[in-house]
Amino acid sequence: MSFKLLRQALNGNRPLPRMWREHPLKDRYDVVIIGGGAHGLACAYYLAQEYGITDVAVLEKRYIGSGGSGRNTTIIRSNYLTPEGVNFYDESVKLYEQLSVDLDFNVMFSQRGHLTLAHTDGAVRTMRRRAEVNQIQGVNSRLIWPAEIKQLCPPIDVSDHPRYPILGALYHPPGGIIRHDAVVWGYAHQADTRGVHIHQLTEVTGILVQDGRVTGVETTRGRIKTGMVLNATAGWCTTIADMAGVRLPVTTFPLQACVTEPLKPFLDVIIVSGSLHVYVSQSDRGELVMGAAVDPFASYSMRGSLAFTEGIAGHMLELFPALHHVRILRQWAGLCDMTPDFSPIMGVTPVEGFLVDVGWGTYGFKASPVSGKRMAELIATGRTPDLLHPFRLARFAENDLVGEKGAASVGH
Ligand SMILES: Cc1cc2nc3c(=O)[nH]c(=O)nc-3n(C[C@H](O)[C@H](O)[C@H](O)COP(=O)(O)OP(=O)(O)OC[C@H]3O[C@@H](n4cnc5c(N)ncnc54)[C@H](O)[C@@H]3O)c2cc1C
Repeated sequence: MSFKLLRQALNGNRPLPRMWREHPLKDRYDVVIIGGGAHGLACAYYLAQEYGITDVAVLEKRYIGSGGSGRNTTIIRSNYLTPEGVNFYDESVKLYEQLSVDLDFNVMFSQRGHLTLAHTDGAVRTMRRRAEVNQIQGVNSRLIWPAEIKQLCPPIDVSDHPRYPILGALYHPPGGIIRHDAVVWGYAHQADTRGVHIHQLTEVTGILVQDGRVTGVETTRGRIKTGMVLNATAGWCTTIADMAGVRLPVTTFPLQACVTEPLKPFLDVIIVSGSLHVYVSQSDRGELVMGAAVDPFASYSMRGSLAFTEGIAGHMLELFPALHHVRILRQWAGLCDMTPDFSPIMGVTPVEGFLVDVGWGTYGFKASPVSGKRMAELIATGRTPDLLHPFRLARFAENDLVGEKGAASVGH
């Protein structure tokens, strides 16, 4: 990588080669992936890389990364509540740890440590339970107390003055942040290099189903025949599933985030407070990247609101009173496909050849590598990998939920 950088530096201002190419839309592909986010692109990459399946089209109605993958606050962690969740996200963290090498592209993964604050006795109990489940699964997490929190994060107020004093925290050292665009571009580049066709500005408008199995898709640029369709459209996933006649237990909510003006580096860890509905990290540029829980109403709107900004500013000041002079630079929103148990839905559906990788809510970016890799395995082998089995669509009918609300809501 450093050799490449040196070569580019010596090349002066010559434009860099394109990361992915444009192709004519073929009228047939072995696999059609709907959604050019990190999930769809990761699946395309692993199909090509691991299984040599390259007759693949990724269809994206806008530009790649224009959905949640380019709007998230980039938190990566595996300190979930259920053994199924912890194992699944742990594989993703491990894949992220080697992703820069695998994609030959610096995705800037910074494992700086993740703290989930507890402000009540009930929250301390949940953090203790999470720490124990994490440790049993071999994930590095532990409960810590205010003195150690202060050491890890000197500017935080651990006194008993605030309305909700900090009683403890779940500390997860491998948790970190990453450059989300780089993940999207890296997967796109490597999928393209292996022969995958990425079609931007190509909206899917219909799914063709005959005798219970998928036969193709309708798009704004014409019809494509295929026997395998993957729905990886996150916040829009029910609109696509409806086209195939598949009902998903998913409701779409907006989620907002914002950044401040850049400050000198002072925050080395990620801080999350479920009780205060706020979380924050400091980017490499010095901006504070902040977010909260989803908006309290279902909607497809991607507009920011003043109520969010006022709420987050107040809660941030409860944690970091010294930030009272800091200005917010910009805010935005994305769409989140929320499931009843706060876990994703991956795998087969009642329509043969129509697969889903959805239900990613506020926490799906961290799962892009593992879901991409394991969905590729399912497509290539026809067998559901053990890691995905708990997240099957049928779990809702079988009353076998994977309850992650205590670890997935504000924490992302
Ligand atoms: C503000 C915010 C903060 C977040 N923070 C975190 C975080 O810190 N950590 C974390 O792990 N997760 C986080 N998330 C969640 C995360 O962003 C998503 O779960 C994840 O990016 C989903 O990725 P995806 O590839 O499945 O979907 P997306 O990236 O949303 O891609 C889906 C794509 O499908 C396309 N599409 C939709 N309909 C059609 C159609 N008809 N035809 C063709 N294309 C279509 C869309 O244009 C979109 O580009 C956050 C989300 C938001 C909004």
